[in-house]
Amino acid sequence: MTNIKGRLELILGNMSSGKSEHMRNKLMRRVVSGKYVQLFQPVASIRESDPEKIEKRGYGLIMEPLAAPSQLYDMLNQNTEVIGLDEVHFCDKSIINIIKNLVDKGKEVFACSLELNFRAEPVRLGNDSITIYNLMPIADNVKIINSICTYESQGKICGCREARWVQKYYGDKAAPPDSPLIEKGDVKPCDGVWYAPRCREHYHFYRE
Ligand SMILES: [Zn+2]
Repeated sequence: MTNIKGRLELILGNMSSGKSEHMRNKLMRRVVSGKYVQLFQPVASIRESDPEKIEKRGYGLIMEPLAAPSQLYDMLNQNTEVIGLDEVHFCDKSIINIIKNLVDKGKEVFACSLELNFRAEPVRLGNDSITIYNLMPIADNVKIINSICTYESQGKICGCREARWVQKYYGDKAAPPDSPLIEKGDVKPCDGVWYAPRCREHYHFYRE
């Protein structure tokens, strides 16, 4: 028996659902309560608009870019108690064992990720059959955050708050299911590739 007690909180959600903000808010509460907190984000997921530092009422937390999951051990400070991992879907499957390991060492880990790809399947960690759902059985708490459906017809936006799915578009058409899972795109309608959160009524499900 051991007294070391770690914890894993898994935060999944659609694009533009506010999942990162939800996690950052939880991390900041730990900072305020005097815990040693570190926040990591895969380098490939970082956009220019992403803030390097979160600040709230005089408290701050720096976002540390992560080149590969294995780097995490070197970057971890000795006294860190709480670890935030954002955009976990950009990591390969090695992140699963690393998270397990950190929890076993008594760390409180927050892992935030996209839940489903545009085909409504759980996102894969790298080019593998291992998905983000492989973290579910070992999580103390799982939260799934939906987005708002931005489908627009005749100048009216749907606005449904249960937009669990993401549609990928090529211009004004839903992308074919065999199009690449990872393809850069816009978040607003355009002639090229773009993505948008959709409710059940407005998501085009791909049938086998
Ligand atoms: Zn809708």
